Amino acid sequence: MFERQRRTKILATLGPATDPPGVLEDLFRAGVNVVRLNFSHGDPSGQAKRAADVRAAAQRVGVEVGILADLPGPKIRIERFAEGKVHLKAGDRFDLIASTNAGPGDATQVGVSYLGLPQDVTAGDVLLLDDGLMQLQVVEVQGERIINTVLNDGPLSDRKGLNKQGGGLSLGALTERDKELIGIVAKIGVDFIAVSFCRNAQDMNDAREIAESHGCYAALVSKIERTEAIENLEEIVDASDVVMVARGDLGVEIGDAELPGLQKKIIKASLAQNKVVITATQMLQSMVESPIPTRAEVLDVANSVIDGTDAVMLSAETAAGAYPVKAVEAMARICLGAERQFQTETDFGASPRNLERADQAIAMATMFLSQHVGVRAIVAMTESGGTARYLSRFRASAPVFAVTRHDGARRQMALMRDVFPINFDSRGFTPREAARGSIRLLVEGGMLQAGDRVVFTSGEHMETHGATNTLRLLEVGEDGRASGLGDL
Ligand code: PGA
Ligand code: MN
Repeated sequence: MFERQRRTKILATLGPATDPPGVLEDLFRAGVNVVRLNFSHGDPSGQAKRAADVRAAAQRVGVEVGILADLPGPKIRIERFAEGKVHLKAGDRFDLIASTNAGPGDATQVGVSYLGLPQDVTAGDVLLLDDGLMQLQVVEVQGERIINTVLNDGPLSDRKGLNKQGGGLSLGALTERDKELIGIVAKIGVDFIAVSFCRNAQDMNDAREIAESHGCYAALVSKIERTEAIENLEEIVDASDVVMVARGDLGVEIGDAELPGLQKKIIKASLAQNKVVITATQMLQSMVESPIPTRAEVLDVANSVIDGTDAVMLSAETAAGAYPVKAVEAMARICLGAERQFQTETDFGASPRNLERADQAIAMATMFLSQHVGVRAIVAMTESGGTARYLSRFRASAPVFAVTRHDGARRQMALMRDVFPINFDSRGFTPREAARGSIRLLVEGGMLQAGDRVVFTSGEHMETHGATNTLRLLEVGEDGRASGLGDL
C-alpha cells in the first residue's frame, strides 16, 4: 500500500526570507508546488535572479515547480511622509493631494499616486488605508485636494495602499508599468502571470494579447479583489486559465463579512468552467512570527480544501516570515489531513453535460471507470495539460499522473489538484508503446506496483494538442509491464 500523497497544491511567495542559500530547496522538499514572484516589491532584476534560483533548486531537488509572476496592477498608494510615519487622531482633518509634486507629507496631509482619485470620490465616501487599519471619510473635493475626516486613531506610514469602500475606482487593471513588466516576465520565462485588480474579461484579454505578442504563453491568473470583478465573475473566469480568491484586497473593498460566501462562490464558478483556482492571503498569518499556526488558521486552510480549491497560497508567511519552511510544512500537513477526513466520491454532479470536445468526453468516461472499476491511478498522456485539467475538475479519488515531455505544461499542471506531472518523451512511440513506457516509469518510481489497475488515456496520434480520444483499462503485471484488462 502507498501512503496517500497530498493532492491540494501549495503556492509560496518568495521574498527576503527565502533568499538565503538552501531555503528554496527546503521549501520544495516541504512541498511547494508553485512560487509567486511579487512584482509589487523589489526590482525586476532581483525577481529574475529568484526565478533562476528556483529553476536550479527545483532541478537539484528533482521536483516540478511552477513560477507565477504577480503584476502590481493599479494599487493606489499614498506617497511618503517627511518623518516616514505620522499618528492620526479620530475627528482630525487629513487631506490627500493627488499631484506629482505634493511634497513630503505630515499629520495634516500626504500625496497620493493616482491623479484621477478626486474624480472618483465624493463627500461621504470612506477611504481605507493600510488594508483598512486607517479610515478616512471624504468631506469635500477641491481640485486636486481631497479633504477628509479621520475616523480612527492610529499610525500611517509611507506608501501604504488605499482602497475605496464598496469599490468604484475607475482605474484600468493594466498600468503602463504592468505592460512593461509582461515583456520582462516573458523573457524570464514564467509559467503563470497574475493580473491584479482585474475588472472584466477585457482586462484579461488585453494581458493575454500583450503576453502573446512577446511569444509568452504563460497561464493567466485573474485576481478577484475588487467589487467590479465580482459583478463580472463569469466572464472573467471564462477569460482566465486560473482564478485567485485574493482575500486581502477583496475583504477591504467588499467587507470581511462577505468573504466566506465569496470564496465559495468563486471556487464553484471556477470549477464549473474547468478552471484552476487558488485561495490566497493570511491563511497562516500568525506564522509570520510564530512556529505554529492558530487553530482558526488550521480550520481556514482545511475549509478551503473542503470548498474545493486547487491550491492554497502563502504570502508574508514565506516571503518575510520567521518560519518559511515550517509554514509550508504546516500547510502540507493540514491539506493532507483535510483530504483524508473529507474524501468524497467523484463529483459527477458538477461535470458538464454539454460536452463540446472529444477530450472532455474521454475525461468524463475515465472518471466513471475510475470510480466504478476501482483503479489505483489515472495515467493521462497530454501535450498542453488540457486533459489533466478536465480530469482534475472531478476531484477524483484516484490520482492523475499527467505525462508530457513539455516542461512548461508540467509546471502549469503543478498547480492542479490531484495531478502529478510526469516527464516522459513519447516521440516516435505508438500509443501502445507510450502506455507501456510511461507505466513502467511509474512502477520504477514507486508510484504503481504489480496488480494495480489504471485507466490510461491518450491521443491516437501522439504530439497533437487536444487530441485525446483513446481510453484503455490496463493492469500492471508482475514484470512491471502493463497489459489489457479482461475480466473486472
Ligand atoms: P496581493 O494579492 O497579496 O498581491 O495584494 C492578494 C490579495 O489581495 O489577497
Ligand atoms: Mn491584492
